Amino acid sequence: MRVLVVEDEVRLSAALKRGLEAEGFTVDIASNGSDGLWLATEQTYDVMVLDIMLPGINGLKICETLRAKQIWTPVLMLTAKDGELDEAEALEIGADDFLSKPFSYRVLVARLRALVRRGAGPRPVAMRVGGVTLNPVTRVCEHAGREIELTGRELAVLEYLMRRPDEVVPKGDILANVWDYAYEGGDNVIEVHVSSLRRKLGSDAIETIRGGGYRMSTGRN
Ligand code: CA
Repeated sequence: MRVLVVEDEVRLSAALKRGLEAEGFTVDIASNGSDGLWLATEQTYDVMVLDIMLPGINGLKICETLRAKQIWTPVLMLTAKDGELDEAEALEIGADDFLSKPFSYRVLVARLRALVRRGAGPRPVAMRVGGVTLNPVTRVCEHAGREIELTGRELAVLEYLMRRPDEVVPKGDILANVWDYAYEGGDNVIEVHVSSLRRKLGSDAIETIRGGGYRMSTGRN
């Protein structure tokens, strides 16, 4: 069983690595958020332990980004003592379980084993990028606390951009994934849909990247 531990407290992560290896896990450690997100995206793990407060990208953002990318590795979040808000948010953005620090090592191992048994099947949660929320199952889009009416094509363009948060998405990729092969028009059809999305979601919801394509950023609100 491969586990990724994303934790910046060196003594804690070293202790976790020793302990989990003694339990038969194979353990990779990331000591900051960017390395953690990179490993979680590039490698396959059976389960992840994510601290919330991390240098670089915080644990909540890592989990949210993974779920938006359709990566369903079970996630156990480590929250600070009395971090009730963190715990609610962790579950909302697609974490599977949480433990508050300081925690019992035996409880951690038991929870990790339970998560591994449950597996990494898709568990869609509402995607959130910047200030836009989209539930891929109900197709409901929300922005600034209200539901936004979108056409089927607008929803498809938006979902495609939201599944690649913080990336510059070339127009050609959108065209190839949202329009069918029979479509022979130019990519100005995308510009039309992006403009109408901006009218509904705010002009800065989707950036135009010169010579590149479009980007939705997780850092915006
Ligand atoms: Ca920390």
